This record gives sequence, structure tokens and C-alpha cells, in this order.
Amino acid sequence: MDLQEEKMKLVEKIQSLDNVIRGSIYEMKRYCGKPNCICARAKKPHKSLALSFSYKGKTKLIPIKKEQIPGIKARMNDYKELKAAIDELTRINAELLRSEQ
Ligand SMILES: [Zn+2]
Repeated sequence: MDLQEEKMKLVEKIQSLDNVIRGSIYEMKRYCGKPNCICARAKKPHKSLALSFSYKGKTKLIPIKKEQIPGIKARMNDYKELKAAIDELTRINAELLRSEQ
């Protein structure tokens, strides 16, 4: 396989990895905000899950459901694959500089 073919395959892979998620899942105690929830009625925060990630230097928190965790973990794995694919792409692009000389 030559570099151009390798590059095409990588670009396809990168394109397919469009559902990536970065960050970590963590559990905290909080008021969820739903008026009918036990936390509002008992005035006691309850455990809830969130996805935490940094974006432009700020930490973002997105509330998530337990059922979403397996999917989120799979998509975090996609993110690792995307990063690895970008590394490969930069290597190929660097090697392609030779053929421009
Ligand atoms: Zn609640």
C-alpha cells in the first residue's frame, strides 16, 4: 500500500469517528432541578452522574444517565482511535513532503 492509499484509508476512518467523546465520568451529589424529584421534596441532594471535560481551559459538566455510560465509554475509546489516526495522518503527510522535492 502506498502512502496515498494509506492516507485515504485514514481519512475515511477519521470521518467515521464523528461521535467521539472526551472526558471522564464522575459521580457527585446535587439537586437535579426537577421540581417533583425527591431531592426537591426532601431538600437533600442525591447522587448524579456527569461527564466532565475541559474545553478551552474551562471544565464542562454534562449530566448523564447511568444507561448512557456504556455508550459513552465506547465513544471515549473512539476518541483514542481518532487521536491515533491523526498521529498517523501527520506522519504520512510528513513523509509525503519527500515526494514534493
Ligand atoms: Zn433530583
